[in-house]
Amino acid sequence: MSHSVHVGTATAVPGQITYGVFEGVPLPTGGTDPIPVIIAQGKKEGPTLWITGSIHGNEYSGMAVIHRLLGPGGVDFPLAGLAGTVIMVPTLNPAGLRTEARSPYYSHGSDPNRLFPAPRRANKNSSTTTEDSVPTPLERVYERLFERIEAHGDFLIDLHNAVIGSLAFAFRDPIYYDGPEDRAAAQKLQAQNDQMLAAFGFPIINEFPSAEYLKKNLHRSVSGAVLHRARRPAFTVELGGYLHVDTRVRDAAVTGLRNVMRWAGMLPGEPEALPDIPRPRVNFPVRRLMHPRVPTSGIVTHLVDTGDTIRTGQAVARLTDICGRPIGPDGGLLRTEFDGYVVGRMQGMVYYENDPVLWLAVRDDSDLLVPYPDDY
Ligand SMILES: [Zn+2]
Repeated sequence: MSHSVHVGTATAVPGQITYGVFEGVPLPTGGTDPIPVIIAQGKKEGPTLWITGSIHGNEYSGMAVIHRLLGPGGVDFPLAGLAGTVIMVPTLNPAGLRTEARSPYYSHGSDPNRLFPAPRRANKNSSTTTEDSVPTPLERVYERLFERIEAHGDFLIDLHNAVIGSLAFAFRDPIYYDGPEDRAAAQKLQAQNDQMLAAFGFPIINEFPSAEYLKKNLHRSVSGAVLHRARRPAFTVELGGYLHVDTRVRDAAVTGLRNVMRWAGMLPGEPEALPDIPRPRVNFPVRRLMHPRVPTSGIVTHLVDTGDTIRTGQAVARLTDICGRPIGPDGGLLRTEFDGYVVGRMQGMVYYENDPVLWLAVRDDSDLLVPYPDDY
């Protein structure tokens, strides 16, 4: 990997931390909505790690982790021992950050974390657009930024928050291969990604099972695009609940990032111990699931808390009417059909038909190395 790195107006200088901006969405009132970029480059050559945050504008912990990793003005960043380059983007969504909203107002509600470029495939048209769907200005910005990630990126970690009070964890995405001849390469990528996840040290939750992953455009998330288009190790981290910063989780993530740099040969020394974060004890792999769902609209009282382990058949919530009278058979009890643990309780008490009441991690024995489906 070349030692000469530039992203927007930020140009790496060996032994220094440099700052700049990447040109963002052009604004009707003039200028653009720039994306801030920080580059820390060691004096020795080595790989390039990207750390991106706050693509959802009301999720602040990614930015907080980057600030903490740097310290004020960069004083805490382990620059002296660094081999290679760390590129940090404190927010991929400045408009959402300013307005405390998940999506930027100019993307009209669409999830910005589904707008990165789709995979290139040997035997398929790789275009992310059709005649009916032209790219939005934000998609164009992310496409240009992705070119920089592909040009100068060996690994990427994208930082997020989940629901109020939720656990911190890292997502393990499925990896798709393009025909049998591609399987070995995909398997190698998965092994590298698993090593990077282990080095980071947070609890691991598998992403949606494969068909749903593509349907939900998760392959076009920041980490999904790096995995599937650039085909380099990448994952998403959830740093507890949104709209605030859990400082213990923030500090654990900073340690985890330094440990990833050690794993990648970018920093010397043995891994540091992570500050304590909650770790539910289950002895099987898990995947994310929003479950159970309310059969009809009503008021929900949760009967389990974040971090609790759960067993199939256990009552996890009660559905009532506005006066607290149970709705439905079984005294309004909603039961889980899975073993696992509670990642977070969906917010509030007021639920509409089919709204999920819990964010769960449930037993998952599925193979996350899968061929692209025929219809994709
Ligand atoms: Zn998010």
